[in-house]
Amino acid sequence: MSVQIVDEALVLSTVDYGEADRIVTLFTKDRGRLSAFAAGARKSKRRFAGALEAGTHLRARLVERRGDVYRLDGVDIVQSFHRLRDDLPRIARLLYCLELIRELTRDHEPHAQLFDGLRDYLQKLDAKEAGPTSLLLFELDALAQAGFMPSFAPCAMCGQPTGERPRFDPEQGGVVCYPCSPRVPRGFPVSPQIVEALSRLQAGERTPLSADLRARGREILNVFIAHHLGRKLKSVDFMEQVGTD
Ligand SMILES: [Zn+2]
Repeated sequence: MSVQIVDEALVLSTVDYGEADRIVTLFTKDRGRLSAFAAGARKSKRRFAGALEAGTHLRARLVERRGDVYRLDGVDIVQSFHRLRDDLPRIARLLYCLELIRELTRDHEPHAQLFDGLRDYLQKLDAKEAGPTSLLLFELDALAQAGFMPSFAPCAMCGQPTGERPRFDPEQGGVVCYPCSPRVPRGFPVSPQIVEALSRLQAGERTPLSADLRARGREILNVFIAHHLGRKLKSVDFMEQVGTD
């Protein structure tokens, strides 16, 4: 007998399947990331009407099937975040956040706090309350929740303060001090100002960063995330083209 479960979910992505169906990747609150088969989602507009757009917050009715893919029986929209789809910078940030979460998580590994973090961020983005620095905050938080927290202070190798000429090496997990740097030839120089700014954000301080510091922070996180995932996120280029302001 198949048992229906109800879980809160955010739509991470969808792919068309055959003539009429769609496979949806959901980030659910209680079950983490999962794939669900939405029969007829392309043909019948009625059943899932507009609900399977990337980023939509749903209450999803799911049935576990043999294998990995759930069956999506129906949905109620909790929040569609339609306002954030009005301009390209916000769409770019939406797609970036969804891709980041999709890549940082694994199927059937619950991350309720990360779910709340993503939902809250999308709400702020929708309400135009997410300033440009908030994306870095969201990412640092998501990385920490997923177990990939970069370290900005102290030195990731010797534990001393990172000092005047720090370098960033994703292989070492973060920033290393100048005396340790000959041992990490892959690292690249970063300014003490951005190291300080990122460690303050990581500690939960919500002071907005200047455009220059944000760009440097972006660069560091792009390298760190690409290193851990083994590839650059696809939405990074789009976000760079349209900007995040
Ligand atoms: Zn050191």
